[in-house]
Amino acid sequence: MVIIEAKGLKKIFGGEVPVEALKAIDLQINRGEFVGIMGPSGSGKSTLLHMLALLDDPTAGKIIMDGTEVEKLSSMQKTNFRLNKLGYVFQEYALLPELNALENVCLPLMMLGAPAREYRRAALELMETVGLGLRAKHLISQMSGGEQQRVAIARALVNKSKILFADEPCANLDTRNSGIVMNLLRRLCDERRQTIVMVTHEPEHIQYADRIIWIKDGMIEKEEKAG
Ligand code: ADP
Ligand code: MG
Repeated sequence: MVIIEAKGLKKIFGGEVPVEALKAIDLQINRGEFVGIMGPSGSGKSTLLHMLALLDDPTAGKIIMDGTEVEKLSSMQKTNFRLNKLGYVFQEYALLPELNALENVCLPLMMLGAPAREYRRAALELMETVGLGLRAKHLISQMSGGEQQRVAIARALVNKSKILFADEPCANLDTRNSGIVMNLLRRLCDERRQTIVMVTHEPEHIQYADRIIWIKDGMIEKEEKAG
C-alpha cells in the first residue's frame, strides 16, 4: 500500500540565478518501506526530503501522503499533520540550544499535549537507546556534534510517527554509533512498520534499506532493490 506519492515534483529556488533543484520527480513509497536516497552533493536530496516532509512548498507537482493531498491543507493543518504523522532528523540538527537534551527530545510530545510523565519516560528511554542516558540534563550547546545528532534522532522518534525522514542521520557519528542508529531504524521499520526515508552517502547503509533511489541533477537517475 502506497503511503507517499509524489507526482511531477519540482522546486526552483529564486534569486539572481534561479536554481532548479528538483525537476519533475515521480515516486511512490509503500507503508513500512525503508527507502534510502543517495546521490552526489547538491543533487537535490535535502530539497526532496523538505518537500515530502511539508517543510517547504514545491514550485509544481503534487504530494499525496497517507491518503491526504497535502497541498490542500492550510498551514495550520500542515503543522498538525507533521506533528501527528511525521518525524524529521535535520541534516543540521535544528535543536534548541537553550534547552537541555531531554527537553529537546520531549518537545514533539509536549506540543501534542501528552502528559508530562508520559513524554519524560518516552524521551528518557530513547536517550538511553541512542547511548545518551547519562547526558539527559546536558545543554545542547555543551554537547559534541555526534551527541547533538543522536539527540536529534531521539527527538524525531519520540512521537512514534508513521513516517520518519532522516537527512544524513549518521554524518557525524563514529562507526559504532552509526551501527546503533542504523540497526535502530531497521528495527523500527520491522517492528512498528514505520516508513523510513533516509538520505545517506554511505555505501554501508545500503544493506539496511529495502530500496535505494538515486538522485542526480534534481532527477531520479535509477532505483534499485537493497537489503
Ligand atoms: P543535496 O542535499 O543533494 O546535497 P540540496 O537539496 O541541498 O542538495 O540542494 C540542491 C540544489 O539546490 C543545490 O544546487 C543547492 O545549492 C540549491 N539550494 C538548496 N537550498 C537552496 C535555497 N534555500 N536557496 C537557493 N538554492 C538552494
Ligand atoms: Mg543535503
